[in-house]
Amino acid sequence: MSDTTPSIFTKIINREIPADILFENNRLIAIRDIAPQAPMHVLVIPKTQAYANVTELASGDPALLSEIVVTAHNLATLHSNGEYRLVFNTGETAGQTVFHVHAHVLSGALQEHTLA
Ligand code: 5GP
Repeated sequence: MSDTTPSIFTKIINREIPADILFENNRLIAIRDIAPQAPMHVLVIPKTQAYANVTELASGDPALLSEIVVTAHNLATLHSNGEYRLVFNTGETAGQTVFHVHAHVLSGALQEHTLA
């Protein structure tokens, strides 16, 4: 479980830091990544920061993980061509920098063989 210090995403959820919000409901928020790595690069973030990564989320609230996937699909359909790559960086050596679980939704002009 994550600590209780508000994460950067919790500050965005609480409107303490601005963000380009594309979707929000009672459980999730979706924002454009501040440093996009694809024509569409959105982060889908649970409002709770109780789960540091996708492994914890899958164990603790699998329905919320499913909601992330459905939301990713909906956003890629609305804002791109409906095709997307879903990435959960999990751990520092895998590139995770914010330990409040979030999905990267990347869409548009992605190349094959470019996962690393
Ligand atoms: P991670 O590296 O943990 O998988 O992903 C964190 C992501 O959050 C990065 O892609 C980074 O660009 C994004 N990010 C960090 N700070 C902010 C911010 O203040 N606003 C937005 N919109 N994205 C942020």
